[in-house]
Amino acid sequence: MTATSIALVGIGKIARDQHVPALAASPAFELAATVSRSGGVEGVENFNSVEALVRDRPDIRVLSFCTPPQVRYPGARAALEAGCHVMLEKPPGASLSEVHALEALASDKGLTLFATWHSRHAASVAQAKEWLADKAVKSVRIDWKEDTRVWHPGQRWIWQAGGLGVFDPAINAFSILTEILPVPVHVSGAELRFPGNCETPIAGEVRMDGPCGPLVIADLDFLHEGDPFWRQTFQTDGGTLTLDQGGAIMEIDGARHAGEDWKKPGIHGEYDGLYAKLADLLKAGASEVDLRPMTLVADAFTLGRRLDAPDFFDPALQET
Ligand code: NAP
Repeated sequence: MTATSIALVGIGKIARDQHVPALAASPAFELAATVSRSGGVEGVENFNSVEALVRDRPDIRVLSFCTPPQVRYPGARAALEAGCHVMLEKPPGASLSEVHALEALASDKGLTLFATWHSRHAASVAQAKEWLADKAVKSVRIDWKEDTRVWHPGQRWIWQAGGLGVFDPAINAFSILTEILPVPVHVSGAELRFPGNCETPIAGEVRMDGPCGPLVIADLDFLHEGDPFWRQTFQTDGGTLTLDQGGAIMEIDGARHAGEDWKKPGIHGEYDGLYAKLADLLKAGASEVDLRPMTLVADAFTLGRRLDAPDFFDPALQET
């Protein structure tokens, strides 16, 4: 198979931790260029803008965006306008309406738009979906708690409008939930805690109803110290399923059923899965844009009661 040339836009934490290694291991793609304000990846041609890249490298017709959501739209639009296929990191944009606009543009031009949800490719998600398919789910509890100072040091954009705050990780939980729950859910209430010096929430609780009433409680905390909790617990008529470590581990009634430890070095299975899916979409001439996780977040902002929280200080932010 000849590898397809692809460019990465925005070389920050996730590009370096996951996209670059996943592309290096991918038989389907070859990293041919970057768009980066800070120099990009050693040994790979770098451009200052998407416009310059699509003009000067007509051989590259696939771009993968790892920029913060607030600055995603203009570059993605420029790429589609130039006839390139586009893959977007989660969340796919800063607003639902801008992603709808990109989806319409991709469709008009017959191009692939892939709005990714990496957590859906975690090791145990597919098996959890299969197990839940014939169960009646009575309640779901989501605990999504991590220390932002450890996992997102110095990332100012997370605290600016559109950066989602605690929903930047929690949208991963919602992406798994909407993928595996056999019934649809909608937000019924929320409390969101905003530090006085931030535009986005640092903690909160989100409640969701299913077709028969209250179903999901999500407890979200971006100041949780120690080991993170990325866990969802499903009480069903056939037992209790726990998806732990962000979807990597699956337990039924407390017994390990499937999965791999996310702490194991060299694991980038989620991103291997994303690029394999991108290859499939390109081959089929198809797009995938599932906005249900982002709709739940948008509705939590719409319905949520705003509560005050103490000012937030990240030592790494003071340095930038
Ligand atoms: P990051 O470390 O802040 O990197 C983002 C990169 O985007 C920057 O390094 C910069 O790269 C570029 N950029 C362009 N315009 C920018 C602007 N106005 N402000 C800041 N950066 C700008 O962020 P990240 O953690 O990689 O996250 C990027 C996206 O991936 C987000 O949507 C996030 O939700 C998602 N994601 C992150 C993680 C994670 O664990 N960190 C996991 C999964 C998904 P250049 O210097 O090359 O231009």
